[in-house]
Amino acid sequence: MAQPTVDKIWMDGALVDWADATVHVLTHALHYGSGVFEGIRCYQTADGPAVFRLTDHMTRLARSAKILRMELGYSADELGDATRDVIRANGLTECYIRPLAFHGYGAMGLNPLPAPVSVTIAVWPWDTYLGEEGMKHGVTMGISSWRQRGINAMPPVAKATGNYTNSSLAKIEALDHGYDEAIMLNEAGHVCEGTGENIFVVRDGVLMTPPVSDGILDGITRDSIIRMADDFGIIVRERSLVRTDLYLADEVFVCGTAAEAVPVRAVDGREIGEPGPVTTLMQQTYLKAVHGEVPAYEEWLERV
Ligand code: PMP
Repeated sequence: MAQPTVDKIWMDGALVDWADATVHVLTHALHYGSGVFEGIRCYQTADGPAVFRLTDHMTRLARSAKILRMELGYSADELGDATRDVIRANGLTECYIRPLAFHGYGAMGLNPLPAPVSVTIAVWPWDTYLGEEGMKHGVTMGISSWRQRGINAMPPVAKATGNYTNSSLAKIEALDHGYDEAIMLNEAGHVCEGTGENIFVVRDGVLMTPPVSDGILDGITRDSIIRMADDFGIIVRERSLVRTDLYLADEVFVCGTAAEAVPVRAVDGREIGEPGPVTTLMQQTYLKAVHGEVPAYEEWLERV
């Protein structure tokens, strides 16, 4: 899909024209993956546009940077204000938001620390990532032959650009095999996540999801789903899962900011079927919450 464009991008403290938000070919991050980023969404609500869990996302960006020993130079609140500025400057009411911090031009070599850090925030309209059909009837997933990068190799809890080579390998393979999305296992064979989504399994009414210690991104949508399920009185267990837990599940769904909450209708050709009751409840509640239709989750909305 062609990249949708808007007028302005926030770049190192200023709003610049979309076409001018460019970098030098010797940008450190292009060579060594020395960047951290976020994916956030802004939704239209009855009280105007609101960014879902903006501060939590910017806090995670700061944590990813800490792992890489990268100095962002901006607080989470300052980046939140910059996000509001760039959304307003583009006159958007609903959009995807992509903050990115990276080591730029100035010093090559494996030590990223001498290369200056740039921070940018781009926004653009982006439909739900795995498609409307998938939202309604579920997507197909396949276990990847690529293993999730280990917690002592490229920590999955850091949303670092370099980590996504691993996810891209898995995504390409999944599409080659005719699946919509891949599921990554770690070296111990435990289920981790999709290439851009966390995963949940329902069995006998209990909702289960892998623990962060198995090597996943500590997803903000995952956290929201856990809280919502808890509020509905659904038992939630964070526990290690293996591939057969997916094959034998009553329901499986994945979630993430870009993808939102998406039913899974088959894993490795094992039919799970149309979206079940827990999946449907979580998807509907999440979509209502982000649009400001659930008073209990109003605290998650940060108005533009
Ligand atoms: N896992 C991976 C690998 C991701 O890239 C994402 C998307 N950021 C997620 C999980 C979901 O995280 P979140 O709900 O915070 O968007």
